[in-house]
Amino acid sequence: MIDPWIVSVLAGMLGLMLGSFLNVCTIRWPQDESVVFPGSHCPRCGDPIRWYDNVPVLGYIRLGGRCRACKEPISLQYPLVEAATGLVWAGMFSYAGLSWEAMRGALFLTILFGIALSDARFYIIPDQFSLGGLVLGLGLAFLPGGIDPMGAFLGAFLGFGLLQFVAVAGKWAFKKDAMGGGDIKMMAMVGSFLGMPGVLLTIFLGALFGSVIFGPISWKTGKLVPFGIFLAAGAAVTYGFGPQIVEWYATNVLHL
Ligand SMILES: [Zn+2]
Repeated sequence: MIDPWIVSVLAGMLGLMLGSFLNVCTIRWPQDESVVFPGSHCPRCGDPIRWYDNVPVLGYIRLGGRCRACKEPISLQYPLVEAATGLVWAGMFSYAGLSWEAMRGALFLTILFGIALSDARFYIIPDQFSLGGLVLGLGLAFLPGGIDPMGAFLGAFLGFGLLQFVAVAGKWAFKKDAMGGGDIKMMAMVGSFLGMPGVLLTIFLGALFGSVIFGPISWKTGKLVPFGIFLAAGAAVTYGFGPQIVEWYATNVLHL
């Protein structure tokens, strides 16, 4: 038996490295750029980043948040995303222990985080997250614990079908695209991790968060709602607290 503390620390270190990669993916995938080539470089002066400056979080701190070559500030997003991803992985493995479910949950939350970052910055949900995540979700369902393969397939089917329906109905009603293809593929991915009940709760929470938080801003400024962010938040909350939310709703609202 490995000490749970060591498991969490190692998972956290893995999460830091994945967070570093996630930074690259969320910036390059929406622009159809390779995440391998060219290597990491300063976006302002193009100077390649040395491997020892690329160590998650610590590299940023050691450089004082500035490029070694041109001394221009480095976006705070890099260390924040690294730290957040590290915390997600440490948290999942300290909560669920050294298990397949801890890995499944940590991967799912990392993908959702990547989707939220891409959608916030570019209004794009890269296929690598949605379709790649769908393949991953269906595959992981064959591992012990968590969702079973049939539940994952049905969830993916429902997620895709429901949003496709909303897209078609919305286009018919408003005569313009109401739902992006990225959101549809994303919900197929979410369904493969959460199953059919999870899809329903995710859409409900996503619409709720979106209308409460972004609705007023969008209404005032006419800015497009990056719905993927709110679906991602809804899916993360559903993964963590789905059964408790349904039970609370059944008891306090429906009085079952
Ligand atoms: Zn530079």
